[in-house]
Amino acid sequence: MNSELISVVVPCYNEEEVLPLFYDEITKVAAEMQKEHSHLEFEFLFVNDGSKDGTLKVLRQLALKDERVRYVSFSRNFGKEAGLFAGLENAKGDYVVTLDADLQHPPKLIPQMYEYVSSGEYHCAGTRRISRKGEPALLSFFSGSFYKVINSISQTHIVEGAQDFRFMTRQMVDAILEMPEYNRFSKGIFSWVGFETKYIEVENTERAAGKSTFNFWKLFKYSLEGICAFSTAPLAFSFVLALLMCIAAVVMYVIAIVCAVTGVGGGTAAIIGTVLITGGLILLCTGINGMYLSKTYMESKARPKYVAAETEETYKKRVK
Ligand code: UDP
Ligand code: MG
Repeated sequence: MNSELISVVVPCYNEEEVLPLFYDEITKVAAEMQKEHSHLEFEFLFVNDGSKDGTLKVLRQLALKDERVRYVSFSRNFGKEAGLFAGLENAKGDYVVTLDADLQHPPKLIPQMYEYVSSGEYHCAGTRRISRKGEPALLSFFSGSFYKVINSISQTHIVEGAQDFRFMTRQMVDAILEMPEYNRFSKGIFSWVGFETKYIEVENTERAAGKSTFNFWKLFKYSLEGICAFSTAPLAFSFVLALLMCIAAVVMYVIAIVCAVTGVGGGTAAIIGTVLITGGLILLCTGINGMYLSKTYMESKARPKYVAAETEETYKKRVK
């Protein structure tokens, strides 16, 4: 049987503490898989997303001692989405698996994912968390609402709870790389490209070490990103609102005329209320337009999604 390469793509931001644990775990899993399927080969491709701690140092050491370790180190922090993209772009494997460095995505699931995908029945195997144990209740509430909103206004179905832990065929990876957008919302991109996907249901796992960089505000902005990238319904929303306001304005004029005719006189409060509501709605609609405009603006610049400052190749050349 011809050999098959599996690329393990891992975005890392300030993960020096957890990386050695992750490396131990992933190499163990790889060895087990090779015992069962001798034709499998591995590469571990880490993306250092401008970490401020010793992540790059750890990666350099790993790359020197293990040929299979590769890395791309960004010139600054570009965000996890850019990290995932860089990983997919640089991966050479016939299969690519993406997972977080913090062991929240247990590497021991990879053999099972491989079985699903290599059977030919699926192009992708991913995990979907079914419990939000250990997560603040408010965050769970907003996450749940986010999926409801986006799935009711977007034509791309976003699977609730789906994680960035995915095992994919080369075809699917190439399809993802064909999507050149700068504002990347992976959950949407994975759904948009399609391909038969098997979801393995998992419980929520806590981080092995270090701390999460995603707080409520970051997640909120990320969900707006998702809505903006995969639905233009908010643009139509402003149109519907404008229509409703025109109707309301006509009603107001009718009332004003009736008042004038019967000599009742209009209330100041009503006028102030109307002014406030009108102003508010105009601002809202302008805001929605602005949101899309800003995304269009960023896309039109066609900037690179990341800048690499170092890879294991350039580093090894330098230290030789
Ligand atoms: N990450 C990244 N760039 C960032 C933030 C995070 O590459 O700007 C990586 C991080 O190292 C981890 C994964 O993305 O491997 C998920 O991040 P984190 O664990 O902080 O998020 P959470 O699991 O809490 O959603
Ligand atoms: Mg995490």
